[in-house]
Amino acid sequence: MNIGLFGGTFDPVHRGHMAVARAAMERCKLHRVYFVVANVPPHKQRQAHTPFAHRFAMMALATAAEKTFVPSLLEAPEELSGAKPRWQRPNYTIDTMRSLKRSLKSDKLFFLIGMDAFCDIAKWHDAEALFRECEFIVAGRPGYSLADVANALPASLRPRAEVTRPFQKQAATGDLVLPGATIHLLADLHQPASATAIRQAISSGKSLDRFLDPLVADYIKKMKLYRAT
Ligand code: ATP
Repeated sequence: MNIGLFGGTFDPVHRGHMAVARAAMERCKLHRVYFVVANVPPHKQRQAHTPFAHRFAMMALATAAEKTFVPSLLEAPEELSGAKPRWQRPNYTIDTMRSLKRSLKSDKLFFLIGMDAFCDIAKWHDAEALFRECEFIVAGRPGYSLADVANALPASLRPRAEVTRPFQKQAATGDLVLPGATIHLLADLHQPASATAIRQAISSGKSLDRFLDPLVADYIKKMKLYRAT
């Protein structure tokens, strides 16, 4: 089976995330996508986040109608994960990917990511190893160009310019297959949804409900999330 892992803070999960997952499923014939809600992602530790329990509850609501979308507790805080006390909670995406691989055995794994996040991939812990463990599916996002995919790679994986010339244009598309990295580009996605914009809108008394699953929008209202107070 082809399995996708989609990680993020999902604060909150929005229609942009769902569109990425659907497009990735179709493109790479994924049988299932695990939405891994991050507890404290290493690269975002300085930001305050909505408690994990709320972000996970919203994820459970947003994925409820799709049999193949699975909300994952792989990065949950220990007290919520239900894991045995001696189980080492993964801190980095490479650990999460390896945990998933161990539990699924022979499945082929894909990592879903938006181009904004991919721009920083070279700074991730053990990034080269992550490219060895799985194929990447990178989604376009307004304000970011998929033509920058090759340049964003860790230096040891970065190909010569001739190899990536077809991708050095505005409409980079298709697959980039390199020694040590396979990257599928989702070029047709132009999803304007952003969790930051949603949080900011709510805190200033506006609404961006059109970017949210109605169940998630209701949950945010009931629990009074993102309000300025
Ligand atoms: P924030 O605005 O707080 O950074 P976000 O909307 O980017 O939040 P995250 O939970 O940080 O949401 O994103 C998880 C993953 O989904 C990242 O890989 C991100 O690039 C991707 N992603 C989020 N929104 C979009 C979008 N509209 N189009 C494509 N990818 C997206």
